[in-house]
Amino acid sequence: MKCSICGYALYVEISHIKAVSDFPDEAMVAHINALENLLALCPNHHWEFDHDYVSGGIMESNKVRAKFQVTKVAKTTYGLASGQVEVTLTPQYDQTIEEDRRFSKATPSGTIQLFIDNPPASDFLALGKFFYVDFSEAPQAVGAGG
Ligand SMILES: [Zn+2]
Repeated sequence: MKCSICGYALYVEISHIKAVSDFPDEAMVAHINALENLLALCPNHHWEFDHDYVSGGIMESNKVRAKFQVTKVAKTTYGLASGQVEVTLTPQYDQTIEEDRRFSKATPSGTIQLFIDNPPASDFLALGKFFYVDFSEAPQAVGAGG
């Protein structure tokens, strides 16, 4: 295992992305210690992460995570016949939520606008739901035309 931020591998600590104290009393240990809530960090970055010096939007090296909420779902003009749906997501920010305060440092302002022709996909992106959006660099695809 190595530090998710700098890659230091000789000694890492496991930190909770959402602090244990932020969970309700009845929260299951399995939920608190779920893999998605754990992050391997070197001691320096663990301290920085816990003290808000590290943006929570950077979840592992070469990946930026943002948090968005679906704020609009509408059938497009074209969609009246085809079922196409326009889904708009805007960055989620609630300053009373520790996780959101971290995400606000990394989450760009603006919107994500999608036109979806696939009903299961548009149903999944239901109005009011929250989503993590992970940006990770894709290798440059080489097309048939070179
Ligand atoms: Zn580190």
